[in-house]
Amino acid sequence: MSRQPEVNPARLLRSVADFAAIGATPAGGVNRQALSVEDRAARRLLAERAMARGFGVFQDEAANLFLRREGRDTALPPLLIGSHLDSQPTGGRFDGALGTLSAFEALEALADAGIETDRAIEVVAFTNEEGSRFSPGCMGSMAFARAGSMSDWRGAQATDGALLADELAATLDALPQARVRPIGHPISAFVELHIEQGPILEREDVPIGVVTAVQGTKWLEVAFSGEAAHAGTTPLEFRKDPMGAAAAAIARIQDDIMPADPEARLTVGRIAAEPGSINVIPSRVSFTVDIRHPDAATLAAMEQRVREECEGAGERWGCRTAIQQRVDMAPGRFAPSVTAAIEETCRALGIRCRPMVSGAFHDALFVGRVAPAAMIFVPCRNGVSHNEAEFVSDEHIIAGARTLLGVALRLSAA
Ligand SMILES: [Zn+2]
Repeated sequence: MSRQPEVNPARLLRSVADFAAIGATPAGGVNRQALSVEDRAARRLLAERAMARGFGVFQDEAANLFLRREGRDTALPPLLIGSHLDSQPTGGRFDGALGTLSAFEALEALADAGIETDRAIEVVAFTNEEGSRFSPGCMGSMAFARAGSMSDWRGAQATDGALLADELAATLDALPQARVRPIGHPISAFVELHIEQGPILEREDVPIGVVTAVQGTKWLEVAFSGEAAHAGTTPLEFRKDPMGAAAAAIARIQDDIMPADPEARLTVGRIAAEPGSINVIPSRVSFTVDIRHPDAATLAAMEQRVREECEGAGERWGCRTAIQQRVDMAPGRFAPSVTAAIEETCRALGIRCRPMVSGAFHDALFVGRVAPAAMIFVPCRNGVSHNEAEFVSDEHIIAGARTLLGVALRLSAA
């Protein structure tokens, strides 16, 4: 006998609290960095809970963890739902964990109701989404989607000195119950629930964001080289001042790019002057530029604009200009079939939703390259994330989980 599956709010909230205790920080956040002892403990707890429910437990060579509830037709590729369990060093308790635990709640709700889905549903916890202990982030999902290979990253060194190869092996060994499977198995679709990490849903009082795209990102490093000289004795016409060039360039790009386009993002987050003395004109000033946009052509035009402004400023100040691109991540469009399933679910449940673009990148960006994918966002207080003060209300946690369960039911039908 089967009945309508329902999220169990008390169980889900308890589960969020249980996992927040693993790597808990005094200020109420979580320090559960990728492949650490704490990360292993969280993975073990999730695997134990899966086994207690009779779900299959698998991991691949990237230590991506999969919990599988079998479907009627075992030959069909499974529907994948989930997120990540690792955190920033001073992270919150919801980033990643909420998506993983809501997905697990959906599996439990289906099991409670005795529902047999056409295809299997698998919950995933992708390895190292955050990228703070080991670079790059989204390592597990990139390897899963063949956008990178673990063998390229095995030599990566953690901020604490540990080697990725060693920590990965220890993490895989910590779950001997998990069956090992080849990386990148076929899936029918992927749905990731995540906190918004921005202020829009809260400001508009909308409980669910239907994420239709992830904006593209480019990182540039701009360096102006001039001539170090005495601050007191060098008249203007003798100066080759890279700080003058940097200040002019930064002012121009800040004034132009974001005010002209509400979807554009530009951040100068780091600046360095050499030799860095109060009474010396610097010999070299470098700074970073992070630009983002959902449209690839517009993003390319933004980069061109930044380059032109910087080169012009360098010339005016008698400096050499060097610009290097450090990161070039193309925008990702999510699958209309999956975003439509999220919207239909919200409509059926009477939960308000709105389409939106993700400002941050996520595992779903990479998985979306190999299967139809989309994301469900829930509001977080003041848009704060990557912060111990990160907070999601119980009401929004439950609305998100109910939406994810409904979407999983729709998308697991053959
Ligand atoms: Zn996250």
